[in-house]
Amino acid sequence: MNFEIRTTDSQKGKGLFAKCNIPKGSVIFEEDPLVSCQFSWNAAYGYLACDHCLRPLETAQENASRLTGQSVELPYSECCATDKSKMTKCSDCPALYCSDQCKFEALESYHSIICVHSEDPNSQHPLVKLNETWKQIHFPPETNSIMLIVRLLARILKSPNKEAAVAQTLQFCHRTVNEDADLAHKLLGEKFAGQITLLHNLLVAALPHEGIERFLTYEGFLSLLALIGTNGQGVGTSAIGEWIKHVEKLPLPDDEKKAFDVFLDQLYDQMDEHVGEFLNNEGVALYSLQSACNHSCSPNAEPQFPYNHRVSLTATRDIEEGEEICISYLDECFLERSRHSRRKELMRNYLFVCRCSKCESEADQEDVTSEEDDQCEDD
Ligand SMILES: [Zn+2]
Ligand SMILES: [Zn+2]
Ligand SMILES: [Zn+2]
Repeated sequence: MNFEIRTTDSQKGKGLFAKCNIPKGSVIFEEDPLVSCQFSWNAAYGYLACDHCLRPLETAQENASRLTGQSVELPYSECCATDKSKMTKCSDCPALYCSDQCKFEALESYHSIICVHSEDPNSQHPLVKLNETWKQIHFPPETNSIMLIVRLLARILKSPNKEAAVAQTLQFCHRTVNEDADLAHKLLGEKFAGQITLLHNLLVAALPHEGIERFLTYEGFLSLLALIGTNGQGVGTSAIGEWIKHVEKLPLPDDEKKAFDVFLDQLYDQMDEHVGEFLNNEGVALYSLQSACNHSCSPNAEPQFPYNHRVSLTATRDIEEGEEICISYLDECFLERSRHSRRKELMRNYLFVCRCSKCESEADQEDVTSEEDDQCEDD
């Protein structure tokens, strides 16, 4: 391993540190999540992904046709990575999987507890009602899902060693009740804070209780909302994206490469017109290593998703031995903002004051909010 987890300071707790020089572009580690799930609206709008690993289930051609709203003929179709012959389905509910292996892993680790034979939004099953209630609170662009909590708890219920699974979940929660409540309100938005009780009641009705009692109290539920709000990592996958990567590896003559670039520009314009920014299968996942990675406003690493929910943490510049490995918890838009704006956003969403090298070097900046802040989502 080219990194180690060390305790940093009292504020940040753990952090990842390079054990050797890590060159730009190299993969620091790869990791499968404890649990992941597709966003509820993303699934409802027909973004077809494996219910377990989020791998695209459409061919690149189908993906392009759906996202442009017209029938598109893609060149180099042999570069499409989707293998539909391996696709399979849960025998008791409509969940689709990319392979027998994903179906097996899902059933073994959580699915058998939450397998609901209905995608009918009018179904009275508490899990369906929970998901529908969440959807009415959390509209696109989505950042999280209540179903991640459901899978996390189902995973404990299925575990042969429930105590160990509970302990593994608790490693993510280390906040006070008041902090949990703040973070839960922020995740739902103040307008919907009153819905927490409804979501809580539906969750309690949806699952067996034995072994997860501590998470099913009201405070336990708040801590789970805070947990997914601060540790949930967005995941995106795309059949077209994967197809493009494969085409770009072909040894094509220059004029064919140029023609392909022109074709892609047109394709992206058409998709932009039809679905705007919503191009990918999107979801959220909980990783144990990756969540130990601290934030910096000048990060040296970023999480990438080669084709499914397996994250690969990649160095975005040369990292020296002993340096802390950091990612950004803010999106690119926010990273461009003033120190004051960045810190305000990090405090609201993660409850810490950023003391990264960029913030320290800008310590003499006035505490003013950038004028462009309004352009960032979620502010
Ligand atoms: Zn899969
Ligand atoms: Zn099922
Ligand atoms: Zn900072």
